[in-house]
Amino acid sequence: MASSVAAVVVAAGRGVRAGGDFPKQYKEIAGEPVLRRSLLLFARDARIGAVQPVIHPDDDALFERAADRLALLPRVYGGATRQASVRAGLEALVSHGPEIVLVHDAARPFASPALISRAIEAVTDADAAIPGIPVSDTVKAVDDADQVVETLDRMRLRMIQTPQAFRFSTLLDVHRRAAAEGREGFTDDAALAEWAGLKVCVFEGEAGNIKLTTPEDFARAQSEPMLADLRTGTGLDVHAFGEGDHVALGGVRIPHGRGLIGHSDADVALHALTDALLGALADGDIGVHFPPSDPQWRNASSDRFLAFAAERVRRRGGRINHLDVTIVCEAPRIGPHRDAMRTRIAEIVGVAVDRVGLKATTSEKLGFTGRGEGIAAFATATIRLPWSPG
Ligand code: MG
Repeated sequence: MASSVAAVVVAAGRGVRAGGDFPKQYKEIAGEPVLRRSLLLFARDARIGAVQPVIHPDDDALFERAADRLALLPRVYGGATRQASVRAGLEALVSHGPEIVLVHDAARPFASPALISRAIEAVTDADAAIPGIPVSDTVKAVDDADQVVETLDRMRLRMIQTPQAFRFSTLLDVHRRAAAEGREGFTDDAALAEWAGLKVCVFEGEAGNIKLTTPEDFARAQSEPMLADLRTGTGLDVHAFGEGDHVALGGVRIPHGRGLIGHSDADVALHALTDALLGALADGDIGVHFPPSDPQWRNASSDRFLAFAAERVRRRGGRINHLDVTIVCEAPRIGPHRDAMRTRIAEIVGVAVDRVGLKATTSEKLGFTGRGEGIAAFATATIRLPWSPG
């Protein structure tokens, strides 16, 4: 990532609609405050250099608990409006000089690392990029008497989410200008960018990236009935050593006196993980989707196979909970490359790196791995899919 990226997480609102006696961003979901989950999204992401929380001055104690042991910039206090709070966060980031800033509402704790990737990518050649999802209901405009004035063309409508991505200096300018001119009340940052005449692009949002607003939203999030179908898949792959000066393992190139023979790049770890994901989906195996007889997969980089399997999970509305892989070989040594492999695998499938386990073992000189004839890999994938009866 060439440009530096910072995130502002806005958590200064009072959140009264969610019920209860403290703000919704501090309510818990599965034992964790909503704000902690939203902060973790960015704090865990290696691409985000600085995470700036913006909170309400009354919430210090709640915040301390929610932010415990997270790598964040010191909190700043927000203002009377969301717009003023974002401005406070941006001003606090000036000394860090990021090129790109992502602005995220604390009340959206279910955004995924893949969505953050899309945000960063989308703003690379734009001033502003915002996630949106198509509208499936018919939308009508009404007058004061609730009489329908117009049926809007829903093909042209998008429901807008966060994180919204901007060139940092551009967004800062716009916020300062709006404040100087007394323009308040913009409900998102894209609206400020529009007011300033900037080009705002919409990229693909996520249906699961809901904003927790009402008690019903919290009830639904608590039970997560939509992703109750917990599944585990396993994968096994073996490739033989042959001529070569490196092996591809876990998406990382490791110099070695021999190579691995295969139709693709013969990355046993990525192949085993691909099969584990496909197994969890009960959706065939790597050979079905990428037949070795098809010349287009010749020497293919195996990250494509794994990314494909991860995308199949997402297409089914699912989430990847965890991946785990064990590599069996006498050589090369895996330890020095372990974290690079975990990082690369996490990147390929779009999960946080602490959801990827990777171990290595020898087979005590026994069997084909012990004789140095090849490398084996065993993998497990745990995913959650939307529940459907049957
Ligand atoms: Mg293979």
